Amino acid sequence: METFEFHYGQLFETLTKCLPATEMPTIDRAVDYARNKHKEQKRKDGSPYIIHPLAVAKIVAEMGLDMDAILGALLHDCIEDTDASHEEIERIFGQTVAELVEGVTKLTRANFSSTEQAQMENLRKMFMAMSKDIRVVLIKIADRLHNMRTMQYQTPAKQISKCRETMDIYAPLAHRLGMQKIKWELEDIALRYLEPEQYNGIMAFLSSHKAQGEAFMHTIQDAITQRLDSVNIHHTAYGRIKHVYSIHRKMQLQGKTLDELYDVYAFRVIVDTIPDCYNVLGHIHDLFNLVPGRFKDYISTPKPNMYQSLHTTVIGKQGIPFEVQIRTWEMHEIAEYGVAAHWKYKQGVGNGNEKDFEWVRRLLESQQDTDAEDYVQSLKIDMFDDEVFVFTPKGRIVSLPAGSTPIDFAYAIHSGVGNAMIGAKVNNRITTIDAPLKNGDVVEVLTSKNAKGPSRDWLTICKSNQARTKIKQWFKKEKREENVAHGRASFEAEMRRIGLPLSLTIDPELGPQLLKKLAFDNWEDMYAAIGYGGLTAVKAVGRIRDDINRAVKNLQNDKQPAPLRNISDTPGKPNRHAVNGIIVEDIESCMIKFAKCCTPVPGDDIIGFITKGFGVSIHRDDCPNTFNRNEPIQAARWVRVRWDNQESQPFDTTLELECRTRDGLLLDVATTMTTNRIRTKELNGKDLPGGKSVFTVRFEVKDVAELESIRNKLMAIPDVLSSRRGQN
Ligand code: MN
Repeated sequence: METFEFHYGQLFETLTKCLPATEMPTIDRAVDYARNKHKEQKRKDGSPYIIHPLAVAKIVAEMGLDMDAILGALLHDCIEDTDASHEEIERIFGQTVAELVEGVTKLTRANFSSTEQAQMENLRKMFMAMSKDIRVVLIKIADRLHNMRTMQYQTPAKQISKCRETMDIYAPLAHRLGMQKIKWELEDIALRYLEPEQYNGIMAFLSSHKAQGEAFMHTIQDAITQRLDSVNIHHTAYGRIKHVYSIHRKMQLQGKTLDELYDVYAFRVIVDTIPDCYNVLGHIHDLFNLVPGRFKDYISTPKPNMYQSLHTTVIGKQGIPFEVQIRTWEMHEIAEYGVAAHWKYKQGVGNGNEKDFEWVRRLLESQQDTDAEDYVQSLKIDMFDDEVFVFTPKGRIVSLPAGSTPIDFAYAIHSGVGNAMIGAKVNNRITTIDAPLKNGDVVEVLTSKNAKGPSRDWLTICKSNQARTKIKQWFKKEKREENVAHGRASFEAEMRRIGLPLSLTIDPELGPQLLKKLAFDNWEDMYAAIGYGGLTAVKAVGRIRDDINRAVKNLQNDKQPAPLRNISDTPGKPNRHAVNGIIVEDIESCMIKFAKCCTPVPGDDIIGFITKGFGVSIHRDDCPNTFNRNEPIQAARWVRVRWDNQESQPFDTTLELECRTRDGLLLDVATTMTTNRIRTKELNGKDLPGGKSVFTVRFEVKDVAELESIRNKLMAIPDVLSSRRGQN
């Protein structure tokens, strides 16, 4: 049984390191309040309940959170489990603390982890809270961590369900928030209850190799320290055994037994500056033999969760490969505590409110109407979507699409800021406004009352739709004359490109008809629309092209002028009308649909089948369903079709991937799709007998080249065995 005194002592010791002594009376007030409220309650092991909030507050303090969060942690179960009220807590400890406790209470109440649906609902609420104040989520993670640490007192059924929930929700969340240390601990404890045999096997192996492992780690550590001392690089180096869950995962992924799995050791070198990181890397590669293909530079390209380090794998004289991670102290703090470390550094400026987590908001907006399974899917995709988190000079976090520039940042703040922008400072240094931003950058926009406004090439520099829309709006409003001239020029160029006569647009009869097709009252308005980017010249000309061609034909018939052959896209053949990007030979215009069995995309050889009542259905030439095309009765219904090269609409297509079943595979597939900017419309997995599974991915591509490119990338994922177009 554990005592109040022990846990209070532990908390006090932690707090003296991070809080000024003047705050201690308030802490004591909260401890007394909570202790009094939880008075009669006991933990499952018979300890007084108060040890739990004390332990959670200690974890929260170790994360580096602020005073309000520590108070919130101390009081986190008061509303749920005692007669304490929001009003009372607000009166004694202030509004912020009361809101934090309220937020945690809501999450606790949503905590009925039985079915998938219930968990997802829970998760959704969690994110809701998160988008309001991230500290609520951090306290909740700390709460879960302490409950996991004391899991042995729960019933076996509860152990399993809590551990599953931890693996499904809390560990991924900790990962997304960059809190590696907590993520590892959560995963290791969960594995212990979910896969006790594997867990114990690994633990037994590690302890039987303990002496050997420690000797090995000492040797390597000494070698590193000796070398770095000799060149006067101030550093801390240490070896560690990788966490149990990651060893378990590696065994599963690589199908290896423990004896075959050598790289369970990892070394860390922590230095003062970034140049030192690269210097150390050089010395490591000089001391040991490099394992090719394992070097990763997360300093120049941080992970989406802000993680930075250099990773390399080397082999020493002992023949045992091991990983070395090299980072600065600041990177180390961020790697261990993630978003909470940012708290620590930016304390006093960031308030963790409102817009800090745009991705959460967007996720919620797009996911309100879908069921739980879809939700998990899109959540997983979103979690790994490329995003960059930067700070305003006041410490507010702004999330932008990866590759965003100071221009995107300026428009994310306010369109007025973007329009008055004359330059930018990143991390206090003047930079160009098109330089891509990195996670954690502090961005300051330099503005001037005399700024001339955005320039047109900003439209191609910026990465976010928000910036693009706002820049277009500015041009629309401010630059009418310029837009008209600009738009007219691109319209005329496009007309010339495809060989249409400009004279007809001012024809008294045809002119108004064309404008109607384009949905504009006059030509000037249409030019302006093209000029500011609301309409592309290609689209505009596309809409009136057929009418002009018809008029040209009529003119030819009436007056027999010089032939205008170049209008037609296939010389010598009548100009066919394309429907859905398909031209059917011998049929002027008909309904087109794409066969579900083989989902053809531009570039594929195709053939059409005249269906009864649904127009022409387009199959790939090699589709098995075209087997009867040479049978006399059917032959007449098969028609020749071709792609119309003008179209650039996206096409739906389907790939089936046969895979060796493993954890995270679905996620890898989803990540590959997202990072390659492919719009996924459906992603399903199905287990097959014999440890295999099949994933069906439905997505959009513009042509077969893009399809093959993403197919190659999917095939490069480990454990993807084969791929096949179409479905069934
Ligand atoms: Mn609790």
